[in-house]
Amino acid sequence: MSEFVRYERRGNIGIITINNPPVNALGHGVRAGLIGCLEEGTADEQASALVLIGGGRTFPAGADITEFGKPLKSPDLREDIVRYENSSKPVIAAIHGNALGGGLELALGCDYRIGNVKARVGLPEVTLGILPGAGGTQRLPRLIDPAAALDMILTGLFVPAPKALKLGIIDRVSEGDLLEDAIKYAEELVASGAERRRIRDMGIEAEAEIFDQARTVAAKRARGFDAPLLCIQAVENAASMSFDDGLREERVLFEKLLTSDQSKAQRYMFFAEREVGKIPDIPKDTPLREIAKAGVIGAGTMGGGIAMNFANAGIPVTIVETSQEALDRGLGIIRKNYEATVAKGRLSRDAMEQRMALFTGSLDYDGLSDVDIVIEAAFENMALKKEIFGKLDKTCKSGAILATNTSTLDIDEIAAETDRPEDVIGLHFFSPANVMRLLEIVRAAKTSKDVVATAMKLSRTIGKVSAVVGVCDGFVGNRMLHAYMDQAMSLLEEGALPQQIDKALYDWGWAMGPFAVMDLAGNDVSWRIRREKAPDRDRNLPYPHTVADALCEEGRFGQKTGKGWYLYSDGSRTPDIDPAVDALIVKTSADKGIARREISDEEIVKRCMYALANVGADLLDEGIALRASDIDVIYNAGYGFPRYRGGPMFAADSVGLDTMLADIKRFREDFGPLWRPSKYLEKLVAEGRNFTGQ
Ligand code: NAD
Repeated sequence: MSEFVRYERRGNIGIITINNPPVNALGHGVRAGLIGCLEEGTADEQASALVLIGGGRTFPAGADITEFGKPLKSPDLREDIVRYENSSKPVIAAIHGNALGGGLELALGCDYRIGNVKARVGLPEVTLGILPGAGGTQRLPRLIDPAAALDMILTGLFVPAPKALKLGIIDRVSEGDLLEDAIKYAEELVASGAERRRIRDMGIEAEAEIFDQARTVAAKRARGFDAPLLCIQAVENAASMSFDDGLREERVLFEKLLTSDQSKAQRYMFFAEREVGKIPDIPKDTPLREIAKAGVIGAGTMGGGIAMNFANAGIPVTIVETSQEALDRGLGIIRKNYEATVAKGRLSRDAMEQRMALFTGSLDYDGLSDVDIVIEAAFENMALKKEIFGKLDKTCKSGAILATNTSTLDIDEIAAETDRPEDVIGLHFFSPANVMRLLEIVRAAKTSKDVVATAMKLSRTIGKVSAVVGVCDGFVGNRMLHAYMDQAMSLLEEGALPQQIDKALYDWGWAMGPFAVMDLAGNDVSWRIRREKAPDRDRNLPYPHTVADALCEEGRFGQKTGKGWYLYSDGSRTPDIDPAVDALIVKTSADKGIARREISDEEIVKRCMYALANVGADLLDEGIALRASDIDVIYNAGYGFPRYRGGPMFAADSVGLDTMLADIKRFREDFGPLWRPSKYLEKLVAEGRNFTGQ
């Protein structure tokens, strides 16, 4: 008996209950208690079999990851599992809630498994940059089809009980009281004289090609990540080595990953994503406003995608446009998007029609009188947005949230147009809004706390990852991106070509290089913004966008026009190098009197990355971003930043802020005033601190 694990007996069945709320994490106390109670159970002469169950809401949902990186206190989980596996009495794991990671590995050390119908099992270690290191890679492929085991280990996906039953991970599903059913199952096993059933003794036969296939898929879906490759190796070992050798080798691979920079970054991101939902002055129990009906202004690129988010979550949405034609076009695109999902087999036709039925088109604001939230996604123009918010103020019911999807305009100014600025907020979606996971929740000066809290809840309802940010031009993500793009453009003029810059950043881990991104998003978008901002531009700073402007003047907007920084023949999305673009770049350098030079990939990566983190430092200084880790979440969810490097702020810390500052100072001398070390960066370096505290 221990504080964390308890032993008792019912009839002839011993019951071991883990009690370490909230998720029964397998910390040291639990591990020690598990062994103590097993000894008690095996010594109990009245007990013929043992049931292992989690108290509260779940079976152990994993290791205690706060113990990662600390010296391991004995017993470690592997010792526990071996003890259970070698127990003199059959052990039945009774699973409810989530048996994940070490939790599932512990269950695999038992002889039989029964799961509540709503339980889920999984080995999500790969998402933390590690592999199941307590026998999971050796036992699961012995218990079930090795290809299915490999898939579970590589995706980290949670498998619901009915599917786990089909796969053979659990032996029985309980739809009633789990403990009662587990005891009954144990009694049946005892009565039928069922033997011990150790997974380690089971045979394994795996086709060699499943490993080749897995490597091909991993190269595509998890390019640059180490953990999937070592997971594959571990399962391959299970098929080719003895159980004990495979287990030993699993540990070697586990240790290698655990101490790697990649896993450090991925574990940091795991916590960053939990932290981002905590806003210091908004308590968890802040009352929320109900969102049962929504409105969207504008059925263009963003409005259509935003509206789909609501329909996907079952929330009816009214879309307001200025003409029937625009409305029909917008609704037509929505339908086409759903048709594409149906064609891929990811949505049934019925479900699609149900979703389509949730849209109401309108040419006036009357339909918005009873909505709980409106998101404005009309043209990016202050006068227009002010007019719209004036109308919304008059039309919408009291308590409705009035949101704007503006990417650059001052939300405080928009809010001032209403008599209820406390209800006004920015909800900055990313394009395509029905696909991109990121949502920046922009808290304006007067936005009320319950509006922010409701927006955060809404973002979860529609499946987004959100971060709360403050008002400034470009908010967090795009303001940083501007500095990054400035560097990409400067590098062009100094001697690099788009394909070299894109390749250097892609190889470093970004999902796409900056020029490929611009061609995808449309070069005209930033061109229009540059022209609008031209009057306010600081003429003392170099202007690196000359080539980009020239391309736009020729109508080279990117993929949608078949050419941009690259050529896209016949509607293809594959970029081809265009010698005309290279020639234009070389000519621009000559016109500006810049002697082109050889530029290394290392310089490209450094300059683009430092540009991001340096602006990130300003954003922290100004309080626009709350935490460096929030910025990293934004860059992971919205910009294709490689998760195995954390985010731009974590990556800067990994380089060392003193090194980064020294480099930036040198860049200022070499490349001019586009480089200005952030005061906050200087302060951190002076104090010997870094961005993330890692
Ligand atoms: P868009 O031009 O594709 O669509 C705007 C739509 O609004 C058009 O269909 C237009 O007819 C409609 N509209 C204009 N005035 C209206 C009014 N008074 N009432 C109702 N509808 C009206 O533009 P977009 O790319 O969807 O951008 C919309 C907003 O989202 C802008 O504020 C933009 O800055 C922002 N945004 C755009 C992106 C992007 O990548 N496109 C990303 C984030 C935010």
